[in-house]
Amino acid sequence: MILDSIKYCSITLLTLALLACKAGNSNVVHDMESLRAAIKSAVPGDEIIMANGTWENAEIRFVGTGREDAPITLRAEENGKVILSGQSNLRLSGEYLVVSGLVFKRGYTPTSAVIEYRTSSKDLAHHCRVTNCVIDDYSNPERFDVDSWVLIFGKNNRFDHNSLIDKRNLGVTLAVRLKGEENQENGHIIDYNYFGPRQNLGANGGETIRIGTSHYSLSYSNTVVSNNYFDRCDGEHEIISNKSCGNIYRDNVFDQCRGTLTMRHGHYTLVENNYLLGRGKPNTGGIRVINKNQTVRNNYLSEITGYRFRGALVVMNGVPNSPLNRYGQVVDSKIENNILVDCDHIQLCAGSDTERSAVPVGTSISGNLILSKTNLNPFTIYDDVSGIKLENNIINDDAEVPFKTGFKFEKYEVESTGDGLKVPTKKLLKRAGLDLPRLPVEKVDVGADYYTKDWERVEFRSGELIAVPPGTNTILEAYNNSNAGDVLVLENGGEYPFTKHMEVRHTVTIRTKSGEKARISSEKESFFRIVNGGSLELDNLLLDGYMSPDMAGNSVVSTSKYSMNQNYKLFVRDCDIRNLDVNHSFNFLKVFKNTFADTIRLENSSFKNITGAVLHIAEETEDIGRYNVEHVQIADCRFEQVQGAVAFIYRGGTDESTFGPIVSLEGNKFNECGMGVRNKVGASVKFHGVQNLSVENCSWTDSAPLNIYLTNGEPITLIKDCVFERSGSIEYNRAEFERENIEIIN
Ligand code: CA
Repeated sequence: MILDSIKYCSITLLTLALLACKAGNSNVVHDMESLRAAIKSAVPGDEIIMANGTWENAEIRFVGTGREDAPITLRAEENGKVILSGQSNLRLSGEYLVVSGLVFKRGYTPTSAVIEYRTSSKDLAHHCRVTNCVIDDYSNPERFDVDSWVLIFGKNNRFDHNSLIDKRNLGVTLAVRLKGEENQENGHIIDYNYFGPRQNLGANGGETIRIGTSHYSLSYSNTVVSNNYFDRCDGEHEIISNKSCGNIYRDNVFDQCRGTLTMRHGHYTLVENNYLLGRGKPNTGGIRVINKNQTVRNNYLSEITGYRFRGALVVMNGVPNSPLNRYGQVVDSKIENNILVDCDHIQLCAGSDTERSAVPVGTSISGNLILSKTNLNPFTIYDDVSGIKLENNIINDDAEVPFKTGFKFEKYEVESTGDGLKVPTKKLLKRAGLDLPRLPVEKVDVGADYYTKDWERVEFRSGELIAVPPGTNTILEAYNNSNAGDVLVLENGGEYPFTKHMEVRHTVTIRTKSGEKARISSEKESFFRIVNGGSLELDNLLLDGYMSPDMAGNSVVSTSKYSMNQNYKLFVRDCDIRNLDVNHSFNFLKVFKNTFADTIRLENSSFKNITGAVLHIAEETEDIGRYNVEHVQIADCRFEQVQGAVAFIYRGGTDESTFGPIVSLEGNKFNECGMGVRNKVGASVKFHGVQNLSVENCSWTDSAPLNIYLTNGEPITLIKDCVFERSGSIEYNRAEFERENIEIIN
């Protein structure tokens, strides 16, 4: 009895103590039904706790009205232990709601967003916050099905300390939407988030953040994007696409991002104290200025390599009386007190053409400190720059500057700081009146605190060596027991026939140790099929088509027939490819639509007696700027009796959102190539819409011509030291490319 009262007493005391520190009820829910009931009955100050575990196909509608001093909270029982998978999403509307600790992975949203700050077009979120949540590879498997991960509507919302990692399908990662006054002048805050790696989409629509759309671009959003860390966001040209007025981008870090902070539409943007670290990675970009009253000040940029629209600093030409969706003239904008160290390109009046003819006016570039050893001639001027006032800038004394005034010359003096930045010496900073650069935020300060930020792609040869004895399907058996990055090592001269195709699901290398090549053959229509997640390296092998089925359209390597939302790599080194001739149209590589290769590299290999093409990479034919491969590198290869085109690479349309394809051919020999009656390409190699092409030290004999079709985007094309003997030479649609030392022998 006494004991019971003591127990009763202590429970009462505990309850009182809990009530004292919490205004509302805490309610642990275990299923969707009780979650819905808890949301329905929640009052200000309540906390709804989702039980740890996997919630499959959970579409959460979090509707409620909290108070500033007593929000309604929806949270994970333990941060990171509530997994929303399958077809899950979260929509919220009302006021003063907080969501925290949830992880979306292993699935994708059935709607157009994973997290959306509204439950209908009329029911919006205001003063709501999503924090400490994760969306990790919650990507639609259909590469070009569009969705966003976060759509912010309403006003005065915050999105902070979240991790958004590895979005791989079409659609901006996070967008602020401005449709209607109820979504404008919104004062949203997007801060301390980790925007993790986003692979190259190979199309427009791979932005990481977009605020507004061209339609509402003259409206004010007044969103602040601050203290975020953008890590390898490579989706497309625009990491950030600003498309409304009055936004602030401050104290963010962009680490090795292949794209730019673009003031695409809208005026009165402030871009301040952001750190853009290219680390010398190709195509890393900076800050691009378009429109009126833009301010770019106190930013730090280092080792940014991008050119054209991806330069470190780009001031665009506009379109006179531009329609909303084109380019506004740069007017009354300021670029001041920025530090650029070893950045390759500064572009003024970029994009100048007959349409974009309105040059910048009332604009100043002042007080900037520019030090560059990587390019001693960093400025490119495309039009009349008299509307840009240059004052008090400092540049290294060995650099060339295309202006008479506005620059002081100082010695290039750069040192490293504790956090790994390359900075001008204190003496130079003092002369420029600038503070010592210091990262405004680091990886450890951002994102969900319980979730990893060590995202790495598995590289070839990063795993174990696995010896594979000769025999039927032994490679397939070894592969099925391998891990990503492993190397399958074949015996010299061994025979390795396949009776099934090898489905390449993870990164693998297949090689013969140095010396006599092992031979791989197949009874199936393709030897290797790269499916989502796979990458393949073939080294020192004989790939022989003599066992292939007697049917048209075989291939040695093919991609999946279905959409692949993971980019792949294919490397071929020191291989002999023979006898792809059992029937017509036998290709070495066959790719399908909705697939994308980061890199295809053929090196020191020989391709002989092939009835189809070697690389036919031309499946995106809608002409909307999509394509199937970013980098193609062919070096020191010999092609003989290839009836189709050795390479046909196609990117159609006039979209300017992407960089590739980027193609190089060096030291190759083409003999009797492209001459088959079924070769519809009509060339031995054909490049349509390639953005950066170099062909050097190659020779053609008794072959079809080299055909180039230049499209928009000022493609860079160089053809040098090439010999065409009894072959068609170079065919082209426009003569705007560099040719040097081309020999034609009839
Ligand atoms: Ca874009």
